[in-house]
Amino acid sequence: MKTINDFNFKDKKAIIRVDFNVPLDDNFNVTDTNRIEAAKPTIDKIIADGGSVILMSHLGRPKGKEEKYSLKHIVSKTAEVLKNPVIFVDDCRGVHAKNAVDSLKPGEILLLENLRFYAEEEAGDVEFSKELASFGDIYVNDAFGTAHRAHASTTIIAQFFPENKCFGLLLAKEIDSLNRVLNNSVKPVTAVLGGSKVSSKITVIENILDKVDHMIIGGGMTFTFVKALGGNVGDSICENDKLDLALDILAKAKAKNVQIHIPVDVVAANSFSNDAETKIVDVRHIPDGWQGLDAGPKSLENFRKVINESKTILWNGPLGVFEMENFAKGTITLGDYIAEATANGAFSLVGGGDSVAAVKQFGLEPKMSYVSTGGGAMLEMLEGKVLPGIAAILN
Ligand code: AMP
Repeated sequence: MKTINDFNFKDKKAIIRVDFNVPLDDNFNVTDTNRIEAAKPTIDKIIADGGSVILMSHLGRPKGKEEKYSLKHIVSKTAEVLKNPVIFVDDCRGVHAKNAVDSLKPGEILLLENLRFYAEEEAGDVEFSKELASFGDIYVNDAFGTAHRAHASTTIIAQFFPENKCFGLLLAKEIDSLNRVLNNSVKPVTAVLGGSKVSSKITVIENILDKVDHMIIGGGMTFTFVKALGGNVGDSICENDKLDLALDILAKAKAKNVQIHIPVDVVAANSFSNDAETKIVDVRHIPDGWQGLDAGPKSLENFRKVINESKTILWNGPLGVFEMENFAKGTITLGDYIAEATANGAFSLVGGGDSVAAVKQFGLEPKMSYVSTGGGAMLEMLEGKVLPGIAAILN
């Protein structure tokens, strides 16, 4: 796996695909600089080598050239985060872009205009990719968030750099972290899968059954399993057309010697609202008119034992409706257990959507070994897919 550390960038132009798809407020101020900060180590190394940097990214989902999606809005914030001046050019192809690239000197950083101003980007157009490729001596992909897309700048461009292509430090870290969980893991390995529906996680579950020793199933998925096993789930979210599938997963887990842990009790509410009346009930006996919205205390105690003994932990999906304060306890408590295990030497990876939002919201991020930056991309990796943006560098 080639990374930027395998190259000396002195007097070279690096064209880097970054994910600067950052949130902006109504006055076009950047409200969260995480994604820019995440790309900084890669940019720093290239500048330190004496190279120059050409940054390319998308922002939002523009239909053609729409000013509100211009990357000009992020230039000053990017310069501030990178602690370096950033030159901006109002196009990502054509004469303006070419002139800006040609006059770029070692140590300088150039940001190209939004790639998605051209439909050719998402279409993976070869000519467009070739033009982007002509700007750089070395292609670096450091955008994990779009690595599952075969777009011009994320995948197609790589063919024009048969030797001179590599991963940036962020993307390399994402791949390493996942490998530490799924391929070179220290046992016992535990996956915690939460979230709303079995149907959206089925491919993930099936893929990781071969890799884990324990699987904790929580969140809304719980109830499809409980009902399949003959329990009464009341008004809880439940996919009635997936009951056989749930039984099938349990059978497969047994055959593969994977221990499945499902909540035994839940915080039930008499409506889907933070102000609802609540009570702790046995997960198999949820009265009609009530729905389980969080894991209960006995369940959490069971999960604690499993997490405590684990040396490798993957967490994808919240244990309850954490967006509502009264149903966030399960998710926070689980996060605390994982933090504790991590402090005791376990490797923990949080990735693939809402659990990332949860760990950030509850201040748990620094206590995890790694928190992934790409929702959809991480999910696809957990599903066992080879992401086109990663394959393009490896080939
Ligand atoms: P996902 O995108 O599949 O990871 O699902 C995340 C969503 O699942 C969050 O918005 C949670 O509010 C929701 N969720 C978690 N537990 C439950 C539950 N018991 N009932 C309904 N929704 C849930």
